[in-house]
Amino acid sequence: MDLILLGAPGAGKGTQGALLSEKLGTPKIATGDMLRDAVRAGTELGRQAKGYMDAGELVPDAVILGMVRERLAQPDAANGAIFDGYPRNAAQAASLDEMLAGIGRRIDAVVYLEVDDDDIVRRMGGRRTDPETGLVYHVEHNPPPAEIAPRCVIRPDDVEETVRNRLDVYRRSTAPLVEHYRQAGVPVHTVDGGRPIEAVQGEILGLLER
Ligand code: ADP
Ligand code: ADP
Repeated sequence: MDLILLGAPGAGKGTQGALLSEKLGTPKIATGDMLRDAVRAGTELGRQAKGYMDAGELVPDAVILGMVRERLAQPDAANGAIFDGYPRNAAQAASLDEMLAGIGRRIDAVVYLEVDDDDIVRRMGGRRTDPETGLVYHVEHNPPPAEIAPRCVIRPDDVEETVRNRLDVYRRSTAPLVEHYRQAGVPVHTVDGGRPIEAVQGEILGLLER
């Protein structure tokens, strides 16, 4: 199954994607995580991406396409993937449709996580990431275990001004993808992402089983 998690920054895509990946045994392909790994490793790709990420702008499509193409060719993604934070605009959606068609696949479903802007800003302020595992926590809603907490970091692009720009970019470029997939006849499941993590997870699993 090929599934897209769509939603604003902070809507819970990474959190739900990690849980789903474990439940379904399907890898999560998160372009944001891949880019952060590249920045940390100091690769050429990371150097190209960093300025865009720090400003809350989208990294150029060609960079993302090459990265996803390589990742999809890995054996663990042979039967499907959970796309988190990708595609983010019409051009990326078109190239993903084409890439999947080339291997006899297509997007089976889109899960669209809806969360209020105020909630989003609160969530981003409390987001912490474990750089060793890439797992995402929240100081209040999902605190890291005591032994992990000291090594958790705040993402540099989670400062309020950058979050607001990312929300603008999301509204302009990414939100219209809901219509793209509806028009393509792909089931788009709208989920209220403002509820507790377990409730959201339960609803998504229920929807996918149907
Ligand atoms: P969030 O989970 O808050 O939505 P991500 O981790 O998905 O954030 O992305 C962080 C940043 O990485 C984005 O603001 C953007 O600069 C870059 N990025 C991630 N995925 C993509 C993509 N598919 N296309 C372009 N830029 C991306
Ligand atoms: P995204 O990948 O869409 O940017 P994340 O999964 O990283 O979003 O979640 C953003 C922040 O909100 C994290 O700190 C996460 O722990 C927290 N969070 C995620 N889902 C929920 C939820 N349902 N309720 C409260 N906080 C949540």
